[in-house]
Amino acid sequence: MKIFDNLLSLFYPRMCVSCGDALQQNERHLCLHCQMHLPETHFHKDLENPLNLIFAGRVKVENVCSLLYYKKGNGVQHILHALKYKGQKELGSFLGEYYGRQLKLEPRFQTIDFIIPIPLHPDKERKRGYNQSEWIAKGLSAGMGKPYRTDVLVRTHYTETQTKKSRFSRWENVKEVFEVADADALRGRHVLVCDDVLTTGATMEAAIQKLHSAAECYVSVATLATAHG
Ligand SMILES: [Zn+2]
Repeated sequence: MKIFDNLLSLFYPRMCVSCGDALQQNERHLCLHCQMHLPETHFHKDLENPLNLIFAGRVKVENVCSLLYYKKGNGVQHILHALKYKGQKELGSFLGEYYGRQLKLEPRFQTIDFIIPIPLHPDKERKRGYNQSEWIAKGLSAGMGKPYRTDVLVRTHYTETQTKKSRFSRWENVKEVFEVADADALRGRHVLVCDDVLTTGATMEAAIQKLHSAAECYVSVATLATAHG
């Protein structure tokens, strides 16, 4: 297997998703330099972090955190791009596990019962071949030692394309795409909803609203990256 890997890397050199340098044999996804210099937010250690403001007065959230700062043109943008559009789904579980090991140490995240990835629209998932949020959930699950479930929050179909709509109806559209398929699983539980990136928070807010309206539960949020802060 190792010989095969070596041969393969002769023809397809493995590259760091952040800086593009060739990876050493013991490196996965990111070179050591980029791994050491990830722009981490450490928001999970801070109750009063800027991400809480996104949801303040909109929807009840216990804890909100993101692993990395996302800025246009920085390595994190390349990481997210590789995860979503370059088929590098294992990058999601790799970084998810890295983050999960950190969250495991925080008492506020130790009460999590299970992890819920933001579901992707079925058509999109078929096209992409995977849901990147599910791969992040896999990693978080391994790092935190908590299960993840994809059968609790699901997507419903929408018919019109989002691009044709105004800003307001786009929000209305987002609101209708989630459904809770197993309310009993939620009742009285503390769940961690995960996604790749947190920007306006509209999608996340819609998902959280659905969870709250389905059953009395506690919701926390963790994403790989955020444009806030
Ligand atoms: Zn690198």
